[in-house]
Amino acid sequence: MDHRYLDWPFFDPFHRTFAQEFGEWAGAVLPQYEDDEGGDGRAAGEIWRRLAADKWLDHSLPGSPGAAGEKHDLRSLCLMREILGYGATIGDVAFSEPWLAVMPVALYGSRQQKRELLPGYLRGELLPAFALSEPGVGSDAAALATAARRDGGDYVITGRKMWTSNAGLADVYVLFARTFEAPDAGGISAFLVDGGLPGITLEERLPVLPPHTVGVLHFQEVRVPASRLLGEPGRGFPIALAALELFRPTVGAATLGMARRALDAALARSRERVAFKKPISEHQLIQAKLADMAVKIDAAALLVYRAAWLHDAGGSRITREAAMAKLFASEAAQEVVDQAQQIFGGLGVKQGLAVERLYRHVRAFRIFDGTSEIQRLIIAKDLLREQK
Ligand SMILES: Cc1cc2nc3c(=O)[nH]c(=O)nc-3n(C[C@H](O)[C@H](O)[C@H](O)COP(=O)(O)OP(=O)(O)OC[C@H]3O[C@@H](n4cnc5c(N)ncnc54)[C@H](O)[C@@H]3O)c2cc1C
Repeated sequence: MDHRYLDWPFFDPFHRTFAQEFGEWAGAVLPQYEDDEGGDGRAAGEIWRRLAADKWLDHSLPGSPGAAGEKHDLRSLCLMREILGYGATIGDVAFSEPWLAVMPVALYGSRQQKRELLPGYLRGELLPAFALSEPGVGSDAAALATAARRDGGDYVITGRKMWTSNAGLADVYVLFARTFEAPDAGGISAFLVDGGLPGITLEERLPVLPPHTVGVLHFQEVRVPASRLLGEPGRGFPIALAALELFRPTVGAATLGMARRALDAALARSRERVAFKKPISEHQLIQAKLADMAVKIDAAALLVYRAAWLHDAGGSRITREAAMAKLFASEAAQEVVDQAQQIFGGLGVKQGLAVERLYRHVRAFRIFDGTSEIQRLIIAKDLLREQK
């Protein structure tokens, strides 16, 4: 992977060393997993435990021994996801889904909750999952229907969660449920629900294009003690939004890695494939495609690392910048991969080649963590608010 962009002013010397070392790790570990299409979660689980054993997960938790500082260093996290996305999509999925789930605990957990969950996560022994979406709601998550009713010192949870990554495999679900303090978003709380509790069933696994292990979970009168409430009652929705916002530039980074991989493959193929007596790289229409791909990649990288740098430098909210990074990078990556396939000709759609795999894998990144439409709404809302 071309690392010249690390000379941009967004990065510190720490990031350059980090990218170099993590790149070497990924280059050694990921090739054997490249063809894995996920589904049963086995390969992803293996990669996740290796990330833990080699201390890379430390970078995902602020204040942990190997981390850059006392708060999330979003530039390291974007670099990690970019490098994983370049190496093998399943590597990115293995890292990112548990990280999204553990983030609310790191940001809002009590001392006790952090003590109970974070060391196990860092050791790769406690797999967390993020359970927000439901069969009836995705984009409009504030309309969720899963209910948690207070019963003495407990909450009793009933409902269905859909699209939960690592459904049926997770040791703990960070679950969002309606607790009725107020209508809509004001009446939702976050809970830590142990995966083995009675009343939790995996209803269905959902086969999908990317190597995600997703499913539908049924929670039937699942009893959790009030001590498993994460944050204040009725304040669960802002917790979900804060985690998703921090996640967003890193989703863009993962797709950036995928796009870089597609461009590298297309460059190599265009140099070796001969048509009309010369390598296709010497045909100007192919050169135009390569140039357009490179421009999209650099524009995506600028937006991703602008958002990450703003977060790390300022500590202020990066709502608009995070949405721009996710929107642009994921849409651009789909276009770049599509162009790479075109350069490959028939081989571009042959199963098993990197560009074909990337085409399938990158598609879902425009949907989860807020669809492209929702990112546009977030950006427009922010623009309009500023004009008031
Ligand atoms: C592979 C994968 C992994 C996932 N992992 C998780 C996970 O771990 N945990 C979790 O909780 N969820 C997860 N999700 C769910 C994901 O977050 C949702 O799929 C996503 O938020 C979209 O919701 P939806 O599928 O219900 O689509 P809908 O909300 O039904 O949207 C359908 C279409 O309508 C559009 N739309 C909706 N509202 C508007 C509007 N106001 N204006 C314009 N257009 C609109 C959307 O953009 C979309 O194009 C995952 C999904 C996938 C595919």
